[in-house]
Amino acid sequence: MYELTVESSFSAAHCLEDHSSHCGRLHGHNWTVGITVTGDHLNAAGMVVDFVVLKQAIREAVAAFDHRYLNELPPFCEGVQPTAENIARQIWGAVSAKLAAYAGVTVKETRVAESPSAWVVYRP
Ligand SMILES: [Zn+2]
Repeated sequence: MYELTVESSFSAAHCLEDHSSHCGRLHGHNWTVGITVTGDHLNAAGMVVDFVVLKQAIREAVAAFDHRYLNELPPFCEGVQPTAENIARQIWGAVSAKLAAYAGVTVKETRVAESPSAWVVYRP
């Protein structure tokens, strides 16, 4: 099995409603996002999937959040807190949809870091 990982980043504001600490106040992060995909088979070019495809998929997924106030965006405006956990799951879904056309390629996990010392890994 092969595992391929690409990273991207976005900057955005959020606040965690009803949170008693400083996270309940409006603030921002420079999030780093990684996706890892797996596959068993190589195509004629000797790749599971081209890194160009993966980088485009992650860039498109994070573009929806970049320089935005996350609490105003679906699903975060619909009662889902804009936590790193929920952001990771959202990005997993967006990237998985973009890569659905590539047979045998599975999005194993997404990694969302709020800082160099705090991150979440989502594995469905
Ligand atoms: Zn925060």
